[in-house]
Amino acid sequence: MIYYKTNEEIELLRISNLLVSATLAEVASHIKPGATTNQLDKIAEAFIRDNGGVPAFKGYKGFPFTCCMSINEAVVHGFANDVPLKDGDIVSIDTGVVKNGYVGDSAYTFAIGEIAEEIKNLLKVTKESLYKGIEKATVGNRIGDISWAIQEHTEKKHGYGVVRELTGHGVGKSLHEDPEVPNYGRRGNGLKLQDGLVIAIEPMINLGNKEIFVADDDWTIVTQDGKVSAHFEHSIVVRKNKADILSSFVDIEKAEKDNVHLFSN
Ligand code: MG
Ligand code: MG
Repeated sequence: MIYYKTNEEIELLRISNLLVSATLAEVASHIKPGATTNQLDKIAEAFIRDNGGVPAFKGYKGFPFTCCMSINEAVVHGFANDVPLKDGDIVSIDTGVVKNGYVGDSAYTFAIGEIAEEIKNLLKVTKESLYKGIEKATVGNRIGDISWAIQEHTEKKHGYGVVRELTGHGVGKSLHEDPEVPNYGRRGNGLKLQDGLVIAIEPMINLGNKEIFVADDDWTIVTQDGKVSAHFEHSIVVRKNKADILSSFVDIEKAEKDNVHLFSN
């Protein structure tokens, strides 16, 4: 069942998504070698609640944290822990909020200190692929056009592994609504995009091959070959000539630049 949103609902979704973006920017300002993902998760939760939101992930199907903290070979759905972050790590931070009954959902991958050139490139290309997907999210196109654009840029052009088992999704009053938005697919295939469809587009791209497994905690998705994985996510509205991006990386990228411990493209 697909729920197309009214303009009033879309403005509420924008508020929720901008709170997610502000939360990620706040967390970004605290990332440094020695910080733990548990500390960062607590900062995120306090920030969301101080701003009138409720963490959308905490308690979702039993997930125990405010953020998914996925370090290096973890793709998504990682648990926060007390292991200090270190120079050369990358950490994907994915979070969601509920405010006014509507969910915001966005994610960003950060690089701590000096990282290998090939990892810098993975982050750059994965973020680019998100925007290439968003470019296709216009009325009259199909889901497969978004999927194809992401796969073309990451897998075909750069030889990265595109995770198949996890996808983007509709988002609204619920965190996960129809339709699914895969990061691989064929042009001209799938659901025809209509005005007011709100979807989270979220390429999960591996430096090595596409194979993944679920860790012993039953949540964390990890690459089989142990190579790193990147993840960037925006929630967007399908519109006639150009998608409307509800979340924003502007303040996150500013925090990333201002934080001497973070590498920024
Ligand atoms: Mg997310
Ligand atoms: Mg999502």
